[in-house]
Order: sequence, then C-alpha cells, then structure tokens
Amino acid sequence: MNSSETTLIGNLRAIVGIDGVLDETETAGRSAGVWRPDGLKARALVRPRTTGQLAAVMRYCHTHDQTVVTHGGLTGLVHGADTRPEDIVISLERMRAIERIDPIQRIAQVEAGATLQSIQEAAEALDLCFPLDLGARGSASIGGNAATNAGGNRVIRYGMARDMVLGVEVVLADGTIIPALNQLIKNNAGYDLKHLFIGSEGTLGIITRLVLRLRERPTTTNMAFAAFDNFEQIPQFLKHMDRALGGSLSAFEVMWQDFYQLVTRPPAKGQPPLAQNYPFYALLESQGADREFDTLRFNNALETAFEGELIADAAVAQSDADCQAFWALRDDVEQVMQFGRPVIFDISLPLGEMESYATRVSQQLRELPGEMPVFIFGHLGDGNLHLAVVTPPAENAALRPKIEAVVYGGLAAFRGSVSAEHGVGLEKKPWLSISRSAEEIALMRTVKNALDPKGLLNPGKIF
Ligand code: ZN
Repeated sequence: MNSSETTLIGNLRAIVGIDGVLDETETAGRSAGVWRPDGLKARALVRPRTTGQLAAVMRYCHTHDQTVVTHGGLTGLVHGADTRPEDIVISLERMRAIERIDPIQRIAQVEAGATLQSIQEAAEALDLCFPLDLGARGSASIGGNAATNAGGNRVIRYGMARDMVLGVEVVLADGTIIPALNQLIKNNAGYDLKHLFIGSEGTLGIITRLVLRLRERPTTTNMAFAAFDNFEQIPQFLKHMDRALGGSLSAFEVMWQDFYQLVTRPPAKGQPPLAQNYPFYALLESQGADREFDTLRFNNALETAFEGELIADAAVAQSDADCQAFWALRDDVEQVMQFGRPVIFDISLPLGEMESYATRVSQQLRELPGEMPVFIFGHLGDGNLHLAVVTPPAENAALRPKIEAVVYGGLAAFRGSVSAEHGVGLEKKPWLSISRSAEEIALMRTVKNALDPKGLLNPGKIF
C-alpha cells in the first residue's frame, strides 16, 4: 500500500475501528454482487456501527473529495451499486438491528442494514405484517429496498417500498444527519423529505434508519391459476376479481404461454396446474382473515368469471402446498438459463398497450440475427412486465444494445417506463429520456447539485 492509501485506511480506522475498514486487497476478496462472479474493486470498504460513525466518515470524505458507493445486500439488477477503483464502499452490514416494533401504532423502527426477511419475521411474530416482498428477501437490505423503491409481488394491494416507509434517518454527503423518523401516517407539515431519498439509488444521501408501516397479518390465502383464450379477457378478469374480492386481492401475475411452458416442462420441476396450450395464464392471490367466507367468496368470483367467459379454465389451490407450488412456478425464472444468457427487462406500460407492444417487440426481436427465445411474465396488475430475451452466451455483449433498442424503443410512443421497479443504476441510464422529460431530468440534476454539490454519492448513476 502506498502512503496515501495508508493514510486513508488509518484515518477511516480512527473513526470506525480497525475491523471496521477493509483495505483494497481485503475488499477485492468480496463479491461485487449476489449475481456476479467478479471481486469488488474499491480503495476501501467501511463498515460503520452507528449513524454517528457514518456521519464522521462522510465528513472526512467530504473534506477529501472522496467518492462513496453505499452497499446493502447487493441483490440489485441494474448495476446501481457498481464501484470504480477510486471509490470507497460504505457497507451497512453492521447496522442490522430491528430496534423496536409498536403493535398499537403498527410501526417498526429498524437500521438500514436489516434484511427484508428479518423484518417480515419480526412483524409476523407479533401477528403483524410488513408486506414488501420479493425473491431476494433473505439478502436484500431494507435500506437498499427503500433506496431503490423496490416493488415485488404485492404492490397491487400495498404499493411499493415508498408506500410502506413513514420516516427515515439520512446522512448527507457532507456528514449532516437528517433525523426524519416520522412515525405518523398523516403528516403534511411541509415537504415530505423522505421521498427525496426513497428511490434515489444512493445518490442524494445514505439512509441509516427507517420507520416502517406495518399491517395486520392476513391469516387466510386463496390462490388460483387461470388460463385465457385471448389477452382481452385478462384486464376484464382483473377488474372483475378486484371488485368481487372487496380489496383482498394481493397478487395478480401474468405469464405468456412460452414462460408457462418453460416452468412446467422438464428440466423444470414444476407441474402444470392447467393444460399448456393457452396463450396466457394468470396467477392470482387473495388474502383475508376468515377461512370459510374468504374461500366461498373467492370460488364464487372465479365461478362468475368462468360463466362470463372472462377465463377459459382455472385451477384452485387446495392447500398451502398448492399455494407454494403456484408461487414456485412464477419464481422459477432461472429456467431461462437453459437457453443461454438472458437480458432481463423490467418495464411499465398501460394495460391497453400491453399485448400489441409484446407482439411487436417479439416480432422485431425475431428479425435480429440468431434464435433468441423471449419469455414474458410479470406483475400485470401493476402494469409491469418482465421480459427475458435469451442470447447465446458468447454473443450477449454484442446483441444487448440491439435488444435494448427494440425493447425500450417500443416504449417511447406512450412514455412507458424503462424501469418499473429495478431502478436505473448504470444499466438504464442511456434510456432515461424515454421515460422522463428533459425538464424532469434537469430538475433531478438541480436536486442532486443542491444535496451533493461535489458529486460524491454513488457517482455516475441514474444520469
Ligand atoms: Zn418483478
């Protein structure tokens, strides 16, 4: 280590302790992300134990013009936490406490490094529920979930991460601590500053603590798989079920035929709940609190849908094991790896545009060189689709820009979103102007300059 590196490490260790700082070599021994084989490149990795320590680290960085990238569980999909060799990493892995749960106020106060799953479990132990849920729950940190405004499987009922956070404590680029740990559901006393930081992908401040809104835990779950003869039935069916279920609809996931076949045929382990020859399928879930009544209402609603020709067929889960098996089909996205290396998309568009968009994009992708299977699925109830376009591994890098041009280009006509729930990071930065006007992006820059004039926080991300 040269002398400037020795000084940096020594000064950071004076703030957070010797074991609180990994040097460049130790940092390189860590993985750059859950989905990535390469090592982490950075000058150092700093692990504060308290907000006060982090604030002191940021004061030091601010004085020395040191750039930082904040890390949570590293489960993101858009290179939002990538580092450069000249950055330092702030990891919140030693700030994982669930500090308090108030079952009357129905809130939890937690440190930002706590995993999503640990919060879900702590809430459940008190018969409450923290409804944010996504596949990476065991590794993803709540600070990262908030910083990226994560979505997931129950957005249709509870909203995105933004809708479940009541307050935050944030450290700014210059080390100022902003205590905004609001615990009230209603608080219109001036600007709601937490929303500046939620979804800012670590570019405006570092979230260190959160107050989360909890709900009463549903005790019953009803699920079904439905099959459709045509796409027009799906939005009608969604409206019908949402109305008939009186607010208890908690998930509405759709699968195009190719995806359904992929996850219900060997080598996939899933069994098909319905015949495999329908063009579209949906997985729906309703959660309530009265076993008999909920089941009756759910089954009646499906029955009327069938009689009204809103669905072609349906399979109803008869047990918890069935429910898990249904979700396992939806979650078995890894099967796309059978065909090569996927480029995964996360887009939003109006329901009325969805089918023609998907057909047009699939057609345009077929015109690109090579055979590239396309799998479409997603959170249709939220207007959010995921597309997996699978390329031969060796050609992935060369084909990616062409594939992106087709998928994102098709959204421009109706200002769809290039990022429904994954964020922008580095991956979608070139495409931001499809979803945001020049004026919006200029205002984003004004906000960034006001909060982080030296550009030290997660440099180069978003725009
Ligand atoms: Zn998703």
